[in-house]
Amino acid sequence: MTDRYASFVQSGAGRALVKRLGLPDPPRLRRHRPGDPLLPGPVLLGAAAGARLVEPVGKILTAAGVELRDPAAVEPAGDTSAQPAPASARFGALVYDATGITDSTGLRQLYDFFHPHARSVLPSGRVIVLGTTPAECPSPREATAQRALEGLTRSIGKEFGRGVTAQLVHVTPSGDASTLTSLDATLRFLLSGRSAYVSGQVVRIGTGRAEPPADWDRPLDGQIVLVTGAARGIGAALARVLARDGAQVVALDIPAAGDELARVANEIGGTAVQLDLTTPDAPARLAEHLASRQGRVDVVVHNAGITRDKTLGRMDVDRWDSVLDVNLSSQERINDVLLERELIPTGGRIVSVSSIAGIAGNRGQTNYATSKAGVIGLVESLAPALSGRGISVNAVAPGFIETRLTARIPLMLREAGRRMNSLSQGGLPVDVAETIGWLAWPASGAVSGNVVRVCGQSLLGA
Ligand code: NAD
Repeated sequence: MTDRYASFVQSGAGRALVKRLGLPDPPRLRRHRPGDPLLPGPVLLGAAAGARLVEPVGKILTAAGVELRDPAAVEPAGDTSAQPAPASARFGALVYDATGITDSTGLRQLYDFFHPHARSVLPSGRVIVLGTTPAECPSPREATAQRALEGLTRSIGKEFGRGVTAQLVHVTPSGDASTLTSLDATLRFLLSGRSAYVSGQVVRIGTGRAEPPADWDRPLDGQIVLVTGAARGIGAALARVLARDGAQVVALDIPAAGDELARVANEIGGTAVQLDLTTPDAPARLAEHLASRQGRVDVVVHNAGITRDKTLGRMDVDRWDSVLDVNLSSQERINDVLLERELIPTGGRIVSVSSIAGIAGNRGQTNYATSKAGVIGLVESLAPALSGRGISVNAVAPGFIETRLTARIPLMLREAGRRMNSLSQGGLPVDVAETIGWLAWPASGAVSGNVVRVCGQSLLGA
């Protein structure tokens, strides 16, 4: 589905009209291409007094080939409300370590860092604030100040425009080497074009089992990854992105989608499994297939999903049952069997696809929203339960993504869905795929129990 308005806005006539009428102005987003540098410019790296992460972060960014600038050595852009910054003071990203802020009066340091550089971020640049997970702060005052960071990043995501995204990364104070490996992975994801449609998010990094890759351009090398619903849409994009990043993909879909599935599997050198996840013997057959062919599955991505929309009073029980079964119960049954048979090894990862409908609710989608909120419950309950086995569990919650599913939405609603977010456009399947890819990296093992929205900071459920 093409977004004709977004294409029009990029044209000369479109630009003039948008300016004159104050219409939404969807920017062209920077998306990842293998071999691209992480960012279109240097990083201005700042820190609050007493911050604990700035040193390792400096090392991580330098190793990633990023040019660092010290705020003390940069001429501020002057009256930031009047002029954009000169070319010499423009940045691919502003990264600020706020872990040193221990009470509300210390929040002033945020203003001091960001105010002079508010107009210095290049298009599709990044703003990242690092903080301490509030629940793990030693005092209520510190937890209060750390919680406050969320308001700053979410507002910057709405304010800076031009495809600039803003995120908060909470890092456990009792971290280990795995925590730093996952911080490395998370910064590489958030700074790069892989996170084009992710904004206003809070990512929590704890402890876990995280392994850095030999080559960050192939962060999934040698990993066996199961993708359900891989014949088309987000699942097909996912299979391609994971294979590009080095994974051996087992692509699963219903028998009726066999031809499309075979095309995807052949294209990426993966394996196709035709299986309806709702049949009673599906978990056992899948486990048998994985045990006999691959011997294990490092990453399970529960992507298959359906909608059967009707308002609740008009909804027949089949619509309710089928949506709950495909979107939620089948995930539970498959997890149970794969975990019981120990086919997901230590260091394995489970990633589920939820939806912002599961966060915000949606008219006509009581069944779908229930199933997708259930997916969030699954992540929140299973992540702590599996931490002892070194298995991470996370979800992504896509917003408006340009697929067959959203192409069926009536025009006016579709336009509203596209524009009601900080980036004024719908996301692409590849945006969801890249986010799942990051959560699937062995280096991301210390990221667990997170629900990351891929919604361009949609107003729904915000
Ligand atoms: P899609 O309909 O294009 O693809 C879903 C795939 O799942 C299909 O190939 C389908 O055959 C497969 N599938 C359905 N039932 C199955 C079953 N019983 N067994 C095996 N495979 C089955 O949808 P999509 O837009 O690519 O969505 C992918 C996921 O993303 C879904 O979970 C969906 O709910 C979620 N999502 C999508 C959007 C969006 O805007 N497109 C937004 C939020 C969440």
